[in-house]
Amino acid sequence: MFYHCNKRFRHKDIWFLFDNEAFKDRQLYIATCPQCKKTIIQLFQTRKIDGKRFADKLITGQNADKFLIRQKYNVDYTYRSIQQKKCKISQPKGLRYGQNIQLKNGKIKRVACDFNGNKEIIEVV
Ligand SMILES: [Zn+2]
Repeated sequence: MFYHCNKRFRHKDIWFLFDNEAFKDRQLYIATCPQCKKTIIQLFQTRKIDGKRFADKLITGQNADKFLIRQKYNVDYTYRSIQQKKCKISQPKGLRYGQNIQLKNGKIKRVACDFNGNKEIIEVV
């Protein structure tokens, strides 16, 4: 959840970034403030040396846009791209099934799909 201009709102996408020298499990949450329309982003990452999870400060507006341009080449995959991948529409109502997707960095992404073609990342292991 993001909080800006006295409003709470959800992210519209998550970028899963490649590990860098010091950090792994790097997720960049991206949102647009419904009030001021600025881009709002926040980076979450885990320090390799001690496994400590960090939530960076919110970055907003032009700085956020610039940050996204710089990070574009660091993106392994995005939440949106996962959701857009097709799931079988012929699945019976209410049934969910799992999918394991092997990522380039050797991790496995576990995704739950439902009959509407909706997908949800359960975990990345
Ligand atoms: Zn705002």
